Amino acid sequence: MRKLALHWQIVIGMVLGVALALVLNNFSWGSGFIANWIKPFGNIFINSLKLIAVPLILGSLIKGVSDLKDISKLSKMGFKTIGFYIGTTILAVTIGLVTVNIIKPGKSISEETRMELLDSYAGEAEAKKEVAEMQREAGPLQALEDVVPENIFGAAAENSNMLQVIFFSIFFGVALILIPPDIAAPVKSFFDGFNEVILKMVDIIMMAAPIGVFALLAGLVSEAPSSELFVTLGVYAFNVLLGLALLLVLQALLVWIFTKRNPIYFMKAMAPAHLLGFSTSSSAATLPVTMERVEDYLGVRREVSSFVLPIGATINMDGTSLYQAVAAVFIAQAFGLDLSIGAQLGIIATATLASIGSAAVPGAGMVMLVIVLAQAGIPEAGLALIFAIDRPLDMCRTVININGDAMVSVVIAKSQNQLDSPKRSL
Ligand code: ASP
Repeated sequence: MRKLALHWQIVIGMVLGVALALVLNNFSWGSGFIANWIKPFGNIFINSLKLIAVPLILGSLIKGVSDLKDISKLSKMGFKTIGFYIGTTILAVTIGLVTVNIIKPGKSISEETRMELLDSYAGEAEAKKEVAEMQREAGPLQALEDVVPENIFGAAAENSNMLQVIFFSIFFGVALILIPPDIAAPVKSFFDGFNEVILKMVDIIMMAAPIGVFALLAGLVSEAPSSELFVTLGVYAFNVLLGLALLLVLQALLVWIFTKRNPIYFMKAMAPAHLLGFSTSSSAATLPVTMERVEDYLGVRREVSSFVLPIGATINMDGTSLYQAVAAVFIAQAFGLDLSIGAQLGIIATATLASIGSAAVPGAGMVMLVIVLAQAGIPEAGLALIFAIDRPLDMCRTVININGDAMVSVVIAKSQNQLDSPKRSL
């Protein structure tokens, strides 16, 4: 019998997880049972993915950079990658702004609901504001300073310091190219082997993916707020989802325009990474799978994927930037503020920077939204309006973030002549 494709196994896991939570929610002991006996398996799954994120970046980036042999290739690829990332982010924010100005979701919210939401979520909004405050107090070059760690073990000890690990790996890889080849050889072959071991670990973890997402979704649904809130904030959610859908189509189109590859095949190849991003709300946790899919099923050579994807997971968030633009204008509309064209152009700049600064973990986009709001003069307390449905939207925008990274890796690979035929077929 032919084995069911991985993405179908994951979809079945998700559906069963949602169904279980819906059934158990009818019993008084239901949510306690899920929290104690089901959700931990979801946490174990996410932890095992996070566990390999740092070694994966170290291993694959050192190998990828040292395989390039020529440093000028690296800087060329670097400029192209960053340029593409910024370009697609600006495009995403623009889509967000255009749709929110046409749909005007903020006008559909009544004064009464606004007061209710502001009241009930004021505490949560305040907590996000405090986190954002710490980031805002930093000087203009703080972000650059933060890229260089003072201790690599300290940097590798925290998953939130991905850029520091990336910096060290590129630095190490470059130095490896510069030393005599006979001395570099054993170091290189060590990292080649190290890398293979980590990729095998990804394969093994993915065998548990259907169970992991089953547990994650059961936990999420059992803790979800009442469905009434979804109706109240329905127009806003629709706006974000419509924007994300348009962006997805655009990303697929860019794949076709730049590589002439079939966009449907591209989407199918990436499906397990999409589903995992949806279930975990974290591009960083999904990174190992994104890398595997891009290399094995799309044919991107490791020299490119190991460079483009970890950087993308940290700085390129098309879905998040689109959401930040929609959310900012939505809050302004709900407060009856009219934003000038100048203020909206300011949103393009701050949302682009804010999405670069957002960590690739659940809810990070909302923290950075505080900065977008402050910059545009929109009341930050407005965060309370969108708090209740942030998680489901976070799940969706994470899928687009991941897809954007994969798209750029294929395009860059093509432009560097490093796009082969896929190693494995779907
Ligand atoms: N959860 C998103 C990601 O990991 C970031 C965000 O928008 O909150 O890509």
